[in-house]
Amino acid sequence: MEKLKLVIVDDKEENVLSLKALLADVDNLDIWGSTSPNEALRYCWNQDIAIALVDVQMPEINGFEFVSLLQSNPKTWQIMVIMVTAISKEDKFLLKGLHSGAIDYLYKPLNPDITVAKVKSFMQQVYIQRELKRKNEELERSHMELVKAKKEADLARKSKENFLANMSHEIRTPINGITGITTMLRNSPLNEEQSEWLDYLENASQQLLLIINDILDLSKIDSGKMRLDFAKTSLAGVIKELTKLFTYKAEQKGITFHAVNDDKLPKHILADSLRLTQILSNLISNGIKFTEEGSVTLETKLLKRSKQRVHIQFSVKDTGIGINSNAIDKIFHSFEQGEEGITKRFGGTGLGLAIVKRLVNLHQGQIHAYSELGMGSEFVFQCWFDEEASEAAPKSDKKQYTDLPMLDGIRILLAEDNELNSFMVTHMLNTWGITVDTVKNGKEALDKVENISYSLILMDAHMPVMSGFDAIRAIRNDQREHIRNVPIISISASVLQREQQAAYAAGADAVVGKPFDPVSLYQIIKTLTQAKDKTNS
Ligand code: ADP
Repeated sequence: MEKLKLVIVDDKEENVLSLKALLADVDNLDIWGSTSPNEALRYCWNQDIAIALVDVQMPEINGFEFVSLLQSNPKTWQIMVIMVTAISKEDKFLLKGLHSGAIDYLYKPLNPDITVAKVKSFMQQVYIQRELKRKNEELERSHMELVKAKKEADLARKSKENFLANMSHEIRTPINGITGITTMLRNSPLNEEQSEWLDYLENASQQLLLIINDILDLSKIDSGKMRLDFAKTSLAGVIKELTKLFTYKAEQKGITFHAVNDDKLPKHILADSLRLTQILSNLISNGIKFTEEGSVTLETKLLKRSKQRVHIQFSVKDTGIGINSNAIDKIFHSFEQGEEGITKRFGGTGLGLAIVKRLVNLHQGQIHAYSELGMGSEFVFQCWFDEEASEAAPKSDKKQYTDLPMLDGIRILLAEDNELNSFMVTHMLNTWGITVDTVKNGKEALDKVENISYSLILMDAHMPVMSGFDAIRAIRNDQREHIRNVPIISISASVLQREQQAAYAAGADAVVGKPFDPVSLYQIIKTLTQAKDKTNS
């Protein structure tokens, strides 16, 4: 038990001594006495005193003043004071003492038992008070820690969002270059073999896009922002696309990939084909990744048909390394892998199945993994879909960007720091008869608009020296009408809505994402430049 300090103040030495003697046997009490209230006050200010026994009638400072002085000092206000008095038991004295801050009285001549009992009971109170104070401080500390942790979590969430925005931009920009050049090549004379190489190149860039989308998807699903976009989907078409991609991948590894389809499968279902493909391609690419010999099979079956609803089962089976039985449950968690060392041997982020599981849940479906170490694995995904009536699929009349009518007489300023993208966009714009000037940052764009009147500006969002957003703001704030009103398309590689909103907030007329579709870019340019002509005429 902690030792408590007790102070006795009485102008008569013999009273101090007798009180000391009376309390000498009380455990855990450290007693100090003085006949001078001033000396006692100084002592109280410098020591951690728990209880004071104070005589009422003293020549220097009387007991009531002494207690008031203790009360007014933040170092001593919590001392428990017992007044020791011989003068009167009348109420007015009692009240005076209590008003000045004392908590009890002892009357002379002192009754030894009562004195000891009172001191002991106040010691108990001090212990309880100190315990309460400690607990309060602890609470205060943990409250502060919680506040700090919340602040840190908010900061971490913000920096995660920024990281995602930046990363998605950094990766999408070069992919945009790759897909753009692929489109350009596609419109040049090619032999059959070269066309096939282009297919692979296209597939590979799509895969790259899928990876960054994985990371973005996970945070989108976790924040409840992912919505499924249902449309009439050809099941056979989805499976055919997957077969095209994964047959080649499997062959490269020296294994085989087959797709086995049930005859009874409906031709068309209402599905989010992008997400359905995402679930299946995650499972198939894992199958191929973890299989060194043998095969991976995607089997699609109709389990049940009820009115216009179909219950479909997709199973992806491989003859690969298998999964330890105690790891099967955790492989669906983010960043978890079946076994230590898997990343080193096979690579991977541990995100694929976490996304699959969440997407399956969004579909209100079920997924199960069946596996034994060394015996291959099977992932089974079951889900209900609406069946859609089948009619002949409309022939795709997707326009090529090279087939579009000329947009003569248009001069565009392109601000883009990535050389590959700049080259590719310039080429496309030139194909449509547009004159293009290129600059590498927002600052150079501002210099250019000083001397040349443009029909439109294509402005990348993130550029060194001056960002696209800052440049757009500067243009929109220009005094000169012909500069202020120039149509601006912001090119943003970020898929985050916030980023697109920021472009509009800065003053962009349209936002084009990367990688963009040349035909839609053409349409936007046409609409914006025609609108401008109308307002000018
Ligand atoms: P990763 O990027 O690591 O492949 P996933 O979430 O797709 O992440 O998979 C998590 C883990 O589950 C893998 O690291 C692996 O241990 C295990 N796993 C997934 N599919 C298979 C499979 N077909 N065969 C064996 N192990 C698998």
